[in-house]
Amino acid sequence: MKTAIKTVRGVHDILPDDSTTWQYLEATARRVFAQYGYRELRTPLFEKSELFARAVGATSDIVEKEMYTFADRGGDSLSLRPEGTASVVRSFINNSMHRLLPWRVFYIGPMFRYERPQKGRQRQFHQIGCELFGPEGPLADAELMAMVMGFFRTAGVAGNLSLEINSLGCSECRGPYREKLLVFLNKKMESLCENCQGRMERNPLRVLDCKKPGCGEVAQQAPHMGDNLCTVCDEHFSGLKSHLTLLQQPFQVNPLLVRGLDYYNRTAFEVTTDALGAQNAVAAGGRYDGLVAEMGGQSTPAIGFAMGLERLVLLLEQGRVVQPEPTVYVVVLGDVQGAESAGLLLAEQLRAAGMVVEMNLTGGSMKTQMKRAGRSKAKFTAIIGGREMLDSSVVIKNMANGEQSTVTTAEAVVHLSSHIDQRKG
Ligand SMILES: [Zn+2]
Ligand SMILES: [Zn+2]
Repeated sequence: MKTAIKTVRGVHDILPDDSTTWQYLEATARRVFAQYGYRELRTPLFEKSELFARAVGATSDIVEKEMYTFADRGGDSLSLRPEGTASVVRSFINNSMHRLLPWRVFYIGPMFRYERPQKGRQRQFHQIGCELFGPEGPLADAELMAMVMGFFRTAGVAGNLSLEINSLGCSECRGPYREKLLVFLNKKMESLCENCQGRMERNPLRVLDCKKPGCGEVAQQAPHMGDNLCTVCDEHFSGLKSHLTLLQQPFQVNPLLVRGLDYYNRTAFEVTTDALGAQNAVAAGGRYDGLVAEMGGQSTPAIGFAMGLERLVLLLEQGRVVQPEPTVYVVVLGDVQGAESAGLLLAEQLRAAGMVVEMNLTGGSMKTQMKRAGRSKAKFTAIIGGREMLDSSVVIKNMANGEQSTVTTAEAVVHLSSHIDQRKG
């Protein structure tokens, strides 16, 4: 026997029983996002490496350690996309969408990062995200958050969801705040972890969301951006809070919610749930008014969010997803002349009438085929044997109550369709 080939580490198949759940989540997202005017953008799975170096940050862990980067046969450095926003912004610029603002798009698909595989973290993982280009005010932020929370409600995500928000300030107020924070952190240097000590000068804000206990205590006492906003940022943040209150959407201000890169500004938010034990983020987003200009486009305000499908699949409430089951299972006794052909034809007629039909394709006795019919979970079984071949009839068995009736094949289509319609009620 030859050796079987396995998948690459950190990459896995989504088997049919699971893909039903994925399809449910994707369909729910498409439906909810469409209600807000979002349309799907499909970008390539790989791009020039420099796109991510610029959009995600050349010194970020993602770009330095986690990207799948390779030279193609022409010698260009390409990378599999590690996240979705960079490609959306590139597409926005390439297609001159600044002429058609606002531009609302969503994406669904795989992302790739060379990370240590663990539960819920894969090297090929999947995200759903939305980006909104154009509107600058807090109205857009509130609408986007209402949509995200609406999606979770509609999909049925387990646990208590919380919406956490913060303001990251802008180029005006962040500089002075950064200095203030640095002065404070320098006094607390010995309480910080090695990692934070190293990156403090370069990116003091990251200390605020470090998960190490020492850094956590320092972060609590540190000056917070929210208390140091300029007037414009302060009004933006107050506007967002009053819109959320109007919508009766509960939220918490989390002053430790930060982003590592400079073009993130003002609103940052996360949706968390307590369903997996500790509080876990299920969606994260925020404003990035500076990114389009940074990427070479005409300066355009923007806000977006992304959520990981792997985690959502784990969090879906029991009973939300119904596995598809056939309406009719067609049993044909192969040793009867013409029965298989009659069954093949009947199955097609039933499908043409809108039914999901599974036909027995591998022979077997009546008993064997009825067992298969039971396993298929079909609501009805259509049986064609010797007697039925004589008068072009078919036996219909209701699998729930065992009732049987003999009808012509033409009647079978009408009979089964009417049952299906009643059941849908
Ligand atoms: Zn500001
Ligand atoms: Zn730290």
